[in-house]
Amino acid sequence: MARRPRNRHLVAGAAALVALGLTGVTVTVARHDDSPAPSAVAIDAEERAEAAARADRATRPSPSATTTSPTPAPTTASPSPSPSPSASARTKPRATRKATAAPKPTRSATSKPKAAWVNPMPGAAVTSCYGPRWGVLHAGIDLALPAGTPVRAVAAGTVTKAGDAGDGYGTSVVVDHGNGYLTHYAHLSQATVAVGAKVDAGKTIGREGSTGDSTGPHLHFEVHEGSMWNQIDPAPFMRARGVDLGC
Ligand SMILES: [Zn+2]
Repeated sequence: MARRPRNRHLVAGAAALVALGLTGVTVTVARHDDSPAPSAVAIDAEERAEAAARADRATRPSPSATTTSPTPAPTTASPSPSPSPSASARTKPRATRKATAAPKPTRSATSKPKAAWVNPMPGAAVTSCYGPRWGVLHAGIDLALPAGTPVRAVAAGTVTKAGDAGDGYGTSVVVDHGNGYLTHYAHLSQATVAVGAKVDAGKTIGREGSTGDSTGPHLHFEVHEGSMWNQIDPAPFMRARGVDLGC
C-alpha cells in the first residue's frame, strides 16, 4: 500500500526550504572588520555586505536632515528680563519673590559650562574613517593613541554594554544617550564602567587597546541611530555637535 510517499517528501522538502529561508535571514550584525578576514568569514561576507548596504542607506538621509538642535534649550526663557527694574528694586521686602521668580537656573553653580558632547579620545590620529573598506562597510572611525589612553563617553547616558561579547569588537562599551542615539567604543583594553552606570560627557569609560579583531591599539568609535547596529557616520554627527573627529 505504497501511499504516495512522494507527498511526504514534498512536505519534508518544503519544510527544509522554509528552515533554510529562516536561517538565511538570521541577522548577523555587521561585525567589526578591523583585521583582514580569516578564511571562515568569507561565508558571511554577503551578509556583511548586505548589512553594510543597509547601514549605508540608512545613513544618507539622517545626518543632514536631523541635525540641527542637539542641545536642549535649558529653559524656555519666556519672562522678559528687561522691564521694570524699578518695581522690583524698591519693593524689596514683599515683592521680591514674585519679581525674581522666573530666571535663575540655580543648578549652574559649577563654574564652567560643560560641553554636552566631547571628543572620545582627544588628540588622537585618525587611522580610518567611516565608509567602505575591504569590500565592507567600516562602520566607525578609528582613532589611535597608545594603549591605555582613557576613552571618554562623548555625551551623557547610560551604559548598556561593557565587556567582550565575542563579536569581534573585543572589550567594548555602549552608551545609550537616551535621545535615540547610542555610541559604541570598541577594542578597549579595559572597560572601566559597568552596565547600568550613568555617565556624563567626558567620563572615562575604558582604556584604549587592541582586543577583538584589531591589528593594533586604537579606538573604534561608532554612532548607532535609532537602535543598536544601525551605524551612521560619526563624523558629521559629531561635527554637528561641535566635535571635529577629523574625517
Ligand atoms: Zn575600526
